[in-house]
Amino acid sequence: MLDTELPKLNYNFDALEPYIDAETMEIHYSKHHKAYLEKFLAALDKYSDLKKNNPQDIIKKLNSFSVEEKDRLAIKNFGGGYLNHNLYWQIMDPNNKRDERLIDELEKNYGSLNEFKKLFNNLAISHFGSGWTWLVRDEKGVLQIYSLPNQDSPLTLGHEPILTVDLWEHAYYLKYQNRRSEYIENWWQTIKII
Ligand code: MN
Repeated sequence: MLDTELPKLNYNFDALEPYIDAETMEIHYSKHHKAYLEKFLAALDKYSDLKKNNPQDIIKKLNSFSVEEKDRLAIKNFGGGYLNHNLYWQIMDPNNKRDERLIDELEKNYGSLNEFKKLFNNLAISHFGSGWTWLVRDEKGVLQIYSLPNQDSPLTLGHEPILTVDLWEHAYYLKYQNRRSEYIENWWQTIKII
């Protein structure tokens, strides 16, 4: 069964101040994220078999399902938007603990945590238009970083999402306006797992 309610936030809208302001959080979660979920459910409405899958599997296997093309696009966009935001709130949880295993792995792969953040930041800052920058584990278990446009999900590529930053203007515009790189720099202050 698919959830018809958003996952509860484990923290208050003002918990990420001053890096992410309460008003942005409230609108982002209660309006944008909610709309993705509602439109995802609406796009799935006539596919009762499809609805028996969990949302991750729906996005992962979407190309193998028999659905009308316009619905496939809506499911990809809104389902992606729903799942991408679920992860975004989860990784910014101020109660998160450092993930020592992930940190070790990042140090091995990228030389140092700083080097990893530099590469991730450069990708995020240089991404054109809306989208997300991702740290994922690929189908071989190898860590990768890349950006994807719009609400595309790494699940579609068979990759497991680990860490992500929302590059849509709605994620930062109220506080940062055109200063996306400042938002990205400050966003790291909300990340406790590494
Ligand atoms: Mn967003």
